[in-house]
Amino acid sequence: MAARRGRPATVRDESSTRRLAWRSITSVHRRLIATVFCLCLASLPACSADSEATGNCLEITLTGTQGGPPAVNGQAGAGTLIRYGSVENECSDTLLQFDAGRGTTERLSQLGVSALELDAIFLTHMHSDHTEGLAGLLQYRWHFLGDPVDIICSADVVANTAQSERTLSCSGLVAHTADALLYAGEIAQRRVENSERDPGGPAALAKLQLVPLPLPAKPGTVVWRSGDVSVTAIATVHIPGSLAYRVDTPVGSVVISGDAGNSKPGPPRETSTSETVEALADGADVLVQSAIHPVFAPGGGSNFPAVPYFRQSNAEDIGAMAERSGVAHLMLTHLIPSVDTATHGPFKIPGGGINRGDFEFATRAGGYKGAVYVGQDLLTLRLPIAE
Ligand SMILES: [Zn+2]
Repeated sequence: MAARRGRPATVRDESSTRRLAWRSITSVHRRLIATVFCLCLASLPACSADSEATGNCLEITLTGTQGGPPAVNGQAGAGTLIRYGSVENECSDTLLQFDAGRGTTERLSQLGVSALELDAIFLTHMHSDHTEGLAGLLQYRWHFLGDPVDIICSADVVANTAQSERTLSCSGLVAHTADALLYAGEIAQRRVENSERDPGGPAALAKLQLVPLPLPAKPGTVVWRSGDVSVTAIATVHIPGSLAYRVDTPVGSVVISGDAGNSKPGPPRETSTSETVEALADGADVLVQSAIHPVFAPGGGSNFPAVPYFRQSNAEDIGAMAERSGVAHLMLTHLIPSVDTATHGPFKIPGGGINRGDFEFATRAGGYKGAVYVGQDLLTLRLPIAE
């Protein structure tokens, strides 16, 4: 396990100094910080894998890194695949999918993983960019006569605001995930061809395990367990019902924090990161965290709205949090804005765009000294790292 490295929190003005900091990056700086990290795609051997080792291994793969609803450069929606098992079986005795944005089924296929093989699906929150691939996963399982699958997410939450009362409902999402196909007659038509298919359609294959809220802030609640693998959940602030998860195995631990932000909705505050994620990540090996770059801060020229900006964690604060938590590996995903493009959906990126080095630079500005992996689809990290 990673050794904890202490670092005091500092008060910063998120809306101004950070934009200046990133703008000061020169092209020389960018080259300097473009250190070659352990970044692997599906077509390559898993990074730093100790291929000679025997025993068990843990793999973390970003199945989608798109930040928010925009569609950019073919990126899949947010998701992380965790594989754990024997080295001989390519760490694939247990397969857990965390979030299922659009294109998840297709990204899994690039890894040689079928939706039929997933042991459980965990959802961090009800935003569409994290859930709209769920229907595809369940439809695939239903069509090819797969087994029911565990789906873990929060119990229904009623949110009262000045504008409205609304319910965020994972149970509703799952129960109605394939309603369009039922109403289209597709489910009935397919059952004529194979009556073994469940008459309830894809949703009937969901073994829903709702996590009751509120959860204790520390140390979290174990919500799933199989053999050597346990998954702990903790409540976070982003939208009501948001959860972060920690996967513990004998060879490593991973925190998947979703879009977690700070309990204070905007400045002034010490940080934009989540207090509960920081506690959950204490001593973990890997943190997978959605990241927004300060270039999109209000007033910076992007016109990106303030509310979604401030409910995310920005990359500089993520670096500081990861350092405090002592995580050895930081994987940034759900990147806002997307890298190597001039626009993020309808929003122009000030300066004509940013690159992966800009995201890493921000985490270094926050004081992080561990390994940074700025997400791209199918980036994979394997533990244990070879000595
Ligand atoms: Zn979200």
